[in-house]
Amino acid sequence: MRLTEFFMPTLKENPNEAQIVSHRFMLRAGMIRQSSAGIYSWLPLGHRVLKKIEQIVREEQDRAGAQELLMPTIQPAEIWRESGRYDDYGKEMLRITDRHDRDMLYGPTNEELITEIFRDSVRSYRDLPKMLYHIQWKFRDEVRPRFGIMRGREFLMKDCYSFDLDYDGARRAYNRMFVAYLRTFQRLGLKAIPMAADPGPIGGDMSHEFMILAETGESEVACHKDLLDLDMDLMSLDPRGDMQSTVDTLTSYYAATDEKRDAEVEAGFGDDLIVARGIEVGHIFYFGTKYSEAMNATVNNEKGDKVAIEMGSYGIGVSRLVGGIIEACHDEDGIIWPESVAPFDVGIINLRAGDEKCDAAAEEIYSKLGNAGKDALLDDRDQRGGVKFADMDLIGLPWQIIAGPRGLESGVVELKSRASGAREEMSIDAALNKLTSPAG
Ligand code: ATP
Ligand code: MG
Repeated sequence: MRLTEFFMPTLKENPNEAQIVSHRFMLRAGMIRQSSAGIYSWLPLGHRVLKKIEQIVREEQDRAGAQELLMPTIQPAEIWRESGRYDDYGKEMLRITDRHDRDMLYGPTNEELITEIFRDSVRSYRDLPKMLYHIQWKFRDEVRPRFGIMRGREFLMKDCYSFDLDYDGARRAYNRMFVAYLRTFQRLGLKAIPMAADPGPIGGDMSHEFMILAETGESEVACHKDLLDLDMDLMSLDPRGDMQSTVDTLTSYYAATDEKRDAEVEAGFGDDLIVARGIEVGHIFYFGTKYSEAMNATVNNEKGDKVAIEMGSYGIGVSRLVGGIIEACHDEDGIIWPESVAPFDVGIINLRAGDEKCDAAAEEIYSKLGNAGKDALLDDRDQRGGVKFADMDLIGLPWQIIAGPRGLESGVVELKSRASGAREEMSIDAALNKLTSPAG
């Protein structure tokens, strides 16, 4: 992509409305634009990141054995009356009446709808277990939408639902998602910590929130230091295998969200206690037969008895993750994208657009990177170098190649790593080699 053609309306000044760094950088880099409170358009640069995150989430869900479907954003009120949540949900639910005076709503979550789909199609224990997910926009009329897309009213969520015959099956599904989540966040370049969360009326120990630690997190969380240092190889685990021992190890450390913290336990930790602010990027949750009983979703078991299906739900805040990653990965100049989610792999700065040598070098790099399957953004604007450097640092692509008249005199360009800031002069071929070799 050439910057002269790309739609990336950057801002020089810090927008007043942005209180946290991710919101500031997203607006300044032209990633999003507010449409109304808590509702955003995703401009091309932001959209690229969103899609990359979505794809990694999808791959890990598929790998864990979940199947993707797509449910609508608008749901009938009827099923929410069946579950009893229509009245409980309160003002966060956006309620709509259609032209036939039917009560509808913009879905804040999908337990009811998936339970309805499942109960209408499944009769026998032989159809279990199943895990179904979708990645779809949700709407919650939050009292205080803030921090840009971090707490929006409309936001993109991956929500998965598991269906099992009994508690053991439900626990297997839960464990699989637990590990799939850690793998997902690791691939996104994040350290997300699973923390015991409020299980609600069901009780038990199967509710975890995945938190990334950042000063701007909305809630205070605590954990034992050893959990942060724990380095487990999750990538080599069989994604469909038995995860119990892995989950047992991970949950053997103290880690709790604010409502689950235990002052007595924490007092015993001394300096090993970490108290920090956290951003919730995922939540997994076993709720047994809460919805299946209320909505009459049953199967016949082996003996021919009708039993209510055991369920769990598993959410990831896909759009919130864009902000969460920026909170975790930035410096004062801008974003530092992990390679896996960067909107482009490489930024090419043509320091003097219009100069024959610079143009030729930039074009050569651009086309060769493209041929090697790398996504490059070429800054071919007629702008001062300072502006180009600042914009490239702001948008945070992992690598920059700078082609300037002075270097090209002696046949070199500069290769800069955004993360380390290290700059190195080398020939065009050497730079291309470094960026396109399997290790690079
Ligand atoms: P929170 O406690 O932050 O309000 P929640 O517990 O209500 O979130 P869940 O129902 O568990 O949220 O939703 C699953 C995931 O969706 C959350 O872990 C979070 O990452 C994301 N999410 C929830 N609400 C929002 C929102 N208003 N804006 C962006 N992402 C959200
Ligand atoms: Mg939650």
